[in-house]
Parts: sequence; C-alpha cells; structure tokens
Amino acid sequence: MRKLSIQDLSLEGERVFMRVDFNVPLSDDGRVTDDTRIRETLPSIEYALRKGARLILASHLGRPKGKVNSKMSLKPVAERLRILLDQQLGRNCNVGFAPDCIGLAAEEMAGKLEKGQTLLLENLRFHAEEEANDESFSRQLAALADVYVDDAFGSAHRAHASTVGVTQFLRKAAAGLLMQKELEFLGKAVTNPDKPFVAIIGGAKVSDKIEVIRNLLTKVDALLIGGAMAYTFLKAQGKRVGKSLVEDDKLDLAKELVKEAQRRGVRLLLPVDHIVAEKMDGNARSSVVSTEAGIPEDKLGLDIGPETVAAFANEIATAKTIVWNGPMGVFELTPFAKGTMKIAQAVAANSKATSIVGGGDSVAAVQQSGVAGKITHISTGGGASLEFLEGKNLPGVEALTNK
Ligand code: AMP
Repeated sequence: MRKLSIQDLSLEGERVFMRVDFNVPLSDDGRVTDDTRIRETLPSIEYALRKGARLILASHLGRPKGKVNSKMSLKPVAERLRILLDQQLGRNCNVGFAPDCIGLAAEEMAGKLEKGQTLLLENLRFHAEEEANDESFSRQLAALADVYVDDAFGSAHRAHASTVGVTQFLRKAAAGLLMQKELEFLGKAVTNPDKPFVAIIGGAKVSDKIEVIRNLLTKVDALLIGGAMAYTFLKAQGKRVGKSLVEDDKLDLAKELVKEAQRRGVRLLLPVDHIVAEKMDGNARSSVVSTEAGIPEDKLGLDIGPETVAAFANEIATAKTIVWNGPMGVFELTPFAKGTMKIAQAVAANSKATSIVGGGDSVAAVQQSGVAGKITHISTGGGASLEFLEGKNLPGVEALTNK
C-alpha cells in the first residue's frame, strides 16, 4: 500500500483522532439495533488502545443536515462500544462521550484522556461545516489530537472535514485496519487481479453503474449482467422485454458497451431466461420465459431464470477473482429472490477465487443465504466501493500520508 497504515505509527501516549463509521441503525427508543459497523472497527480500536493511544473517535450518524437532532445522537453508540470493548479486552473500558465534536468540552475531555482510554465525539454532521469541508471546523477537530487514522472506508468517497480537511492540520494521517483491508482487496482486484476475473453487476439502473461497467470492461474476462439493468441491454439488442424496467435514454450507451466488450474480447453475458410476472408483487403469479421467446407485453422480468443461473454459475466456478455488486432481481420479494441467492451460493462455492461483494443489497443477499463466511471480502462501503471500481481516486484515501 502506498499510504501509511496505523501499523506504521507510533501510538504510545499519542492523541489519535480516528474517523470511524458508526452510522448504525437506532430504534425509536434510541437503542443500537445492528452493531455490525461498530464491530468492524474493533480491530483498529483495540490495536490503538493496546499500543497506548489516547483515542478520540469521530463519526456521522444519519442525515441531520447540519442541525442537532437528538434522534441521531451517538450517545447510545458509546454505551454499546463500551460493552463490546469490555468483552474484547477483558477489562472495564471507560468510553467517554463528548456532547459536541468541537468546542471547550470536547477539548477538555480529549485533553484529560489517559493512555488506553477512549472518547467518542457527538455526531459530526450536527455541524453543516463537516460536509462543507470547512477549514476552521477542520482545525477545531484537529486541535483535539496529534495524529489521524481513517477507518471509515464507507465515507472515503466524500471530501468532508473529518475525512479530508482535518488531515492537513495533524502530523500524520494513516489508514486503519479496516480501511487497509478494503484498499488491499479492492486495489488488487482493479490493478492486478488473478485471472480469470469475473464481474457480476446487477441492480436497478444502468445509469448508476455505467462508469463501473466501463472501467471493469478494461480488466475482466467476463462480465455478467443481471437485475433490471439487463433489460436496457436486451432491448438495445432488439429483444422483447415487455413492461420490464428500461432506461430508454441509455439504449445507445448499452449498444456501445456491448461493442466495447466485443472489441476487448470480454465475454458479456446477459440473461437467457427470466422469472416474469404481471406486476412487481410477491403474490403475483410468476413463470419462466426465455430471452429468445421474448417477454410478453403485459409482463415484466423480475429475476434471472434457471438457465441464466446455470450459465452465470459456470463462469463463476472457473474464476480466480470475482467482484459482485447489485442483485440479480427483486430479491426483497421471495418469489424473485432465487436468482440472487443462487448467485451468492455460486460465488461462495468457488473456494479458489478471491471473492469481493459490495453494495448493500448484494451484501444482504450473501448474509441471507448464509454464505457470508465463505466470501473473501465483504466491502463495508457501498458508494465508496463503486467509486473505487470506477477507477476513481477516493478523496479520503488521497488525503492520507504517503509512505
Ligand atoms: P441498486 O441499488 O442499483 O443495486 O438496485 C437494487 C434494486 O434493484 C433492488 O431494490 C431490486 O429490487 C431492484 N431490482 C433488481 N432487479 C430488478 C428487476 N428485474 N426489476 C425491478 N427492480 C429490480
């Protein structure tokens, strides 16, 4: 990696400003209902505490739009973190909570931290200056600490005060362990993948993933396209797609991408059959229709069919690198979830490949199908991993100190 890692820093007695992603769901009465994101950052937190850091944690939660909103307070997160840290370190860990992320109280609490102690700051986004990457706000955050660690990969595609601005005013800026893992896996896939490299792209719209497809076409051996976006490609090839979701203004682009794949010798696989119904409804009667026969006028494609699953699984089985982003159908509705689940199983079954799954829906699918443990890397950043796959430099990564 060309950027400093937390492991390159000497942390003993240092005040460490660590940007984490504690954007967790809260219940109406303010309890953390899913602590996955907190758990994912524990390795970095534990590492820093064991090395004798005085640790200051900062995160956003929800979209408070620059105003204090008690429903989006990180206070319940401090309590949950304390319980998790007690278990992890086998001692009583006091996690302090600063009621504002800048200002006198935060400075005083950060100043009083002893080695091995933790302070969580209140929601960064209670200040509009956070998302505006405001310089004076960045300086105030930096005033709390000596060095910077970024473990919030999911926010690295945003140039905010806590991901970019603050790094200018601290001695060194390094990647946390989770960030490092993301950069290593995604980085290898886009720069030096073991071949064959197979990418699976699905989801609602071609327009959301054009740049990902374009960039991946320069790297992959096979590109498998499912989900609603496949219908724009199929219509562009003159197939009958019935009422399926199509972006008519993207038909030319779809043609161009197919040509590009041919020119580069990339196998571009589109669905050869579909699960169709008259409406997007879990109780609607569904049937299988082949691409060749065409989807009837009154029906829409809501999942990939069994022949497509078999063809996709064939490609997946021989791959050495697999990247998957986006579901193969309307997987939220049980009758149209099978294609996505089968693809999750096919990816998990290839134990020889490095498999990387990103994007909320595909991650949910591997979790629901019980195969998450067999995926090499489940990316924590939806938007950030997409931008990475587009070949973009993430501002939060660029801001880190070069080795
Ligand atoms: P994205 O956020 O772009 O990854 O898209 C995910 C959404 O695409 C999910 O909510 C799916 O229900 C939806 N989706 C996938 N396949 C289809 C389809 N064939 N028709 C309509 N929506 C779909």
